[in-house]
Amino acid sequence: MSWSRTLLWFLFWFILAATAQYCWDTSAGWILVTLACGIILTLRRHQANRVAVWATHPEADPPAGVGQWEDMVASLYKHLRGQAMALRNLQQTNDAVMSAAQALPIGAVTLTKDFQIRWFNEAAKRTLHLKSDQDIGQNLLNLLRSPLFVAYTKQTRWQEPVILKLSLEGKNQSIMMRLVPYADDQLLLITRDLTHIEKLETTRRDFVANVSHEMRTPLTVLSGFLETMLEAPKDALSPEQTHQYLKLMHEQALRMEALVADLLTLSALETSLSADRDTIQMAPLIESARQQAEILSGGRHNFNWAIEPDLNLLGNQTELGSAITNLLTNAVRYTPDGQSITVQWCSQPDGSARYSVTDTGIGIASEHLPRLSERFYTVDRGRSRALGGTGLGLAITKHVAMRHDAQLDIQSKLGQGSTFSLVFAPDRVLKAS
Ligand code: ADP
Repeated sequence: MSWSRTLLWFLFWFILAATAQYCWDTSAGWILVTLACGIILTLRRHQANRVAVWATHPEADPPAGVGQWEDMVASLYKHLRGQAMALRNLQQTNDAVMSAAQALPIGAVTLTKDFQIRWFNEAAKRTLHLKSDQDIGQNLLNLLRSPLFVAYTKQTRWQEPVILKLSLEGKNQSIMMRLVPYADDQLLLITRDLTHIEKLETTRRDFVANVSHEMRTPLTVLSGFLETMLEAPKDALSPEQTHQYLKLMHEQALRMEALVADLLTLSALETSLSADRDTIQMAPLIESARQQAEILSGGRHNFNWAIEPDLNLLGNQTELGSAITNLLTNAVRYTPDGQSITVQWCSQPDGSARYSVTDTGIGIASEHLPRLSERFYTVDRGRSRALGGTGLGLAITKHVAMRHDAQLDIQSKLGQGSTFSLVFAPDRVLKAS
């Protein structure tokens, strides 16, 4: 032990000095003792200073050669390192928990019992349009002034969530909120943006209503004729009348068949995100669409064809066939007799490929253009029905385009005609060199 070593040194010098005094009657020994004491004390002082300097930054390596301090410094350093390690682990756990909370898909806001905002995650920031630098410390009730939310906060227990319709930064939103008390007098506000889900639900409801409506019309006509035929006295209907009724019933049955076929196509398209990547020879596919269009036209239109023969695609044959035929038959249906329809299939300088159908037909007013590819959207329902349309053709075409990484582009002027194009990304295009 260092204190016993120091004591031994003092004893040694003391005995030496006492012996010198006794033998030679001289005080040189005491001078030596005093000198030795001075040197030892100065050395100890110097070591203590080094320890004190280290103690201000104990994370640095401890000083070596500090004599009696060495054991204490070593155990202090070990203890501090243990603590630093524990702190680092704690920090890492804390960081992991905070990043998990930040990444949560639902919003979380921590509040004091007086609803002062202490922290919030990214989802809450997006949903409630909070600003990290300004809104921490703000009272949430000053930011969300909905009377329903204020009433909700006044409850003593929050077992059910509340759904608020808010207009935040000009956006109408539907947000589900729930308060959860935790720790001592702290509150956690959980938020979930339901706007998208509600929109989907509305779309689904509209779709069901549209399908029912579209089916009901031909069914009503069918059952009306059937009733007339069943209830008419024997021989009351002439063979011509019966034939006429059957013809009309057949038309309605065909209409329902077309509707069901389009609905099945749509539902098949929705089951997967991306189309196959089979090699599709486009020239024969366009040729088959051409035959259908020419039959439908019955020689009433002038067709112009500009087809690049070796330009092919990676995709799904049935889907592509349905999309290109849809655009072509629409052009025939919405173009008056004697006018022209031009079909082009060509590569573009950027490596993409464009299929376009241009007609000089009735055209479409600009306000309808953004909604044309919605299901059951028609500019003129009566005209569409009379021409055998279902209102689903462009919805199907748009779906096929999306699944083939293509864009459906529509240019049209009322009374002047339209150009419907499908532009396929270079990644889907195969061109014989
Ligand atoms: P529909 O079966 O009614 O034709 P689509 O989805 O194919 O349904 O088309 C939606 C609407 O777009 C049509 O009702 C029609 O009003 C308009 N439209 C489509 N193609 C053309 C075209 N070539 N010229 C003018 N209007 C068109």
